Amino acid sequence: MYDIIIVGAGPAGMTAAIYGRRAGKSVLVLEAASYGGQIINTPDVENYPSAAHISGFDLATQIYEQAKGLGAEFVFEKVTGIEDGQIKTVVTAKNRYEGRAVILATGSENRKLGVEGEDELVGRGVSYCATCDGAFYRKKRVAVVGGGNTALEDALYLADLAEKVYIIHRRDQFRGDETTVSRLKERENVELVMNSRVTGLVAEKKLKAIEVTDNEGNVSQIEVNGLFVAVGRVPENQNFASVVELDGAGYAVAGENCRTRSAGIFVAGDNRVKDVRQLVTATADGAVAATEAIKYLA
Ligand code: NAP
Repeated sequence: MYDIIIVGAGPAGMTAAIYGRRAGKSVLVLEAASYGGQIINTPDVENYPSAAHISGFDLATQIYEQAKGLGAEFVFEKVTGIEDGQIKTVVTAKNRYEGRAVILATGSENRKLGVEGEDELVGRGVSYCATCDGAFYRKKRVAVVGGGNTALEDALYLADLAEKVYIIHRRDQFRGDETTVSRLKERENVELVMNSRVTGLVAEKKLKAIEVTDNEGNVSQIEVNGLFVAVGRVPENQNFASVVELDGAGYAVAGENCRTRSAGIFVAGDNRVKDVRQLVTATADGAVAATEAIKYLA
């Protein structure tokens, strides 16, 4: 039996673990993949206070070591469900863990483009992680689809490796930061393809080209070896719908106090309904959710 079980070892979950342990609570963190969450794919974090430049992986490792050092237990198993009650049972494929409070900090996963052949071409031209796979496209031609900060930062990263980088965005304005847009515009090997969508993938075992349709319906092909999909993320709450209210987009409904409709179940980070999804708001949520859980346990 644990005082607090945290589902998800991203910045929100690991910060909650730090706060829980500092309050003397027993803490178990369950994580389906590796610690760190989405931030480990960011090569250079420039907007987290105290570190002018740090890789997302290094930052996540520091938070992980801090939480472990304080005595949080980490187990790498995917949570498949939660049974609510005075004691909460957190279920994985292998085990059932009991806790007095639960914090859901599962974050989000990559949104698919939804184009035919996308799934089959993952690892053969289609990727969702520029920092993981960018090196395979050294001196090759790639496209990034999306207009948010992830797409812009991916394009900037790829521009250092690839011969040519196209950014395909469905509107005439980017959603991401103007600073990054300006940096991209300075790159000679970056071409912006605005008001356009990727509507098809052309492949012979590997990706050869993408079909692009502009907002007026004109269709063209761009020869690329790689397509990096960066069209946002979807919250990972599907296994918790029985204990937490979800909004139309699948985000867990909870206010700034991170409380859900189930007493003793809290939600922290990108899987919560909120306006600003940033590293700093994820860690802030972790602190708030743990503090609320500690109050609940008192
Ligand atoms: P995002 O901000 O939600 O942007 C997603 C982009 O994909 C949007 O430009 C959207 O177009 C486009 N899009 C969505 N669905 C599409 C579809 N089916 N087909 C084509 N395009 C589609 O997602 P994100 O870039 O992953 O960023 C998520 C959050 O993390 C944001 O708050 C972002 O600021 C933050 N982030 C911050 C940093 C940083 O601060 N260093 C780095 C990375 C991410 P529309 O614009 O037309 O909606």
